[in-house]
Amino acid sequence: MTDLQFDVIVAGCGVAGLSAAVSAAESGARVAVLERATRAERGGQSRYTEAYLRMKSHSEVTDDFELHLARNGSGYVDPDLVQESAGPRSQWPPLVKALSFSDPDIIEQFANAAGATVAWFEGFGVRFDFLPTQFLTKSQPRLLPVGGGQALVEALAARAEKLGVTFHYETTAASLLMNDDGSVAGLRAVQSGNRPLTLSGQVVLACGGFEGNAEMLTRYIGPRAVYLRPVCKGGYYNRGEGIQMALAIGACPCGDFGSYHAEPVDPRSGRAEPSVFIFPYGILVNHEGLRFTDEAPGTIDAHYENITRRIFEQRNGLAHAILDARHTRIPNYKLAIQSDQPPFVANTIAELAKLIGLPANALARTVNEYNAACPEGVSRSLELDALATRGLNPPKSNWATPLNEPPFHAYPVISSNVFTFGGLKVDAQARVLNRDGDAIPGLYAAGETIGMYYGTYTGATSVLKGMVFGRIAGAVAAGTTTTQKSN
Ligand SMILES: Cc1cc2nc3c(=O)[nH]c(=O)nc-3n(C[C@H](O)[C@H](O)[C@H](O)COP(=O)(O)OP(=O)(O)OC[C@H]3O[C@@H](n4cnc5c(N)ncnc54)[C@H](O)[C@@H]3O)c2cc1C
Repeated sequence: MTDLQFDVIVAGCGVAGLSAAVSAAESGARVAVLERATRAERGGQSRYTEAYLRMKSHSEVTDDFELHLARNGSGYVDPDLVQESAGPRSQWPPLVKALSFSDPDIIEQFANAAGATVAWFEGFGVRFDFLPTQFLTKSQPRLLPVGGGQALVEALAARAEKLGVTFHYETTAASLLMNDDGSVAGLRAVQSGNRPLTLSGQVVLACGGFEGNAEMLTRYIGPRAVYLRPVCKGGYYNRGEGIQMALAIGACPCGDFGSYHAEPVDPRSGRAEPSVFIFPYGILVNHEGLRFTDEAPGTIDAHYENITRRIFEQRNGLAHAILDARHTRIPNYKLAIQSDQPPFVANTIAELAKLIGLPANALARTVNEYNAACPEGVSRSLELDALATRGLNPPKSNWATPLNEPPFHAYPVISSNVFTFGGLKVDAQARVLNRDGDAIPGLYAAGETIGMYYGTYTGATSVLKGMVFGRIAGAVAAGTTTTQKSN
């Protein structure tokens, strides 16, 4: 068995792991990155994302950033315990330090460090801009790296290589090694061909969530997880080892283990993120040909996740978006359909029902009832128009125009799993905490491996979480190493 010595070992090669590796290496640490994938496929989920960042400028997060994260930062928490978290962390009782909720100082740190982190990326050549998104209507601005997540991964990896970081591809981190004093001594990994590898050093766990692990998905999300699939191929690499190996040594869990970030996709498509965001301009029906949700309660960016959860609840986790010819006149409507598969198209609702295997009478009744509930008025497709159905259950709150102009279109839609919410609890220095709220020396986490979201995802914060806490984890780990190289 080979035994390699580093100051900092990073498990994972997405935006979180690479940010940690670069920041540790910039501080002079000897760094290793372990990546389950090949070099050509490195980068996990980060490689496939467009990487929207919830920022109103290059230096500031949106006005709702902290509020949204806090609102979706727990289940029903005992108010007395929340009250105790109002003071400095050093005064919190162990019960509060290890509570399953997003600590206020973590959220504050996240928001405060975002601008400087973007500037750090700009320092090694990444450009950010306010570019068009897939959302035809939105409530929050989105800053994006030019070139998306792949540009982040490539820029970080190039910088890491230049700084002398050692990359081990096709190497899967498997378990943690402990010192007698309770600190982490390194980790055991498995290389291709099931060859073991042992590495000594402090460890940053940045190997994603468990979206690629069917057993964990079923265990935590439930048997219906069989209807979920990762939103892109990068998700299949994330099988939860980072979370499992830390829990095995007593780390504190955080985040909503029973939930995940839901995005509506076309199940026929094998491309990354084949999203279908066009349903606010039509209706959604289930296998019975019935509507089951308000398709347009507000802007698509703010509401697609909840609507997708309703799709997941339907039989076989599948629904169809039904549209008429009107939607093809919406400016840039194709942005809202990222599937590479053509829609089912027919001249009558009955023919469409046959094509998609729904009961024709039921679908016709649903469409007729919906059409009859649509008000007079002109729809304004690119803004909330309050053109709402009358007397229909469930209602449709915007863009309620009748479906009566052939040809009719249908897209099948399922819920994809963009990433899982359950992970590890850290402090504001990205140190992994144990179940009594104390930091486990030598162990850090970043990105999806940190649990932070409950129930609802605060859109466009996951890449930023990887960038911010990866950078912090690397710097803090490097700062506490004893054997930094001299350069
Ligand atoms: C299609 C898509 C669109 C998205 N859109 C957005 C968006 O617009 N904005 C946003 O904020 N978020 C978005 N997200 C979510 C966001 O991209 C991810 O949550 C984020 O990139 C995760 O970064 P990460 O570094 O934590 O994980 P990843 O990028 O997934 O990296 C994890 C790495 O760990 C490796 N790995 C896994 N297990 C092991 C192991 N045991 N040992 C060694 N290596 C291992 C993987 O191969 C991978 O390299 C999107 C995600 C997807 C997939």
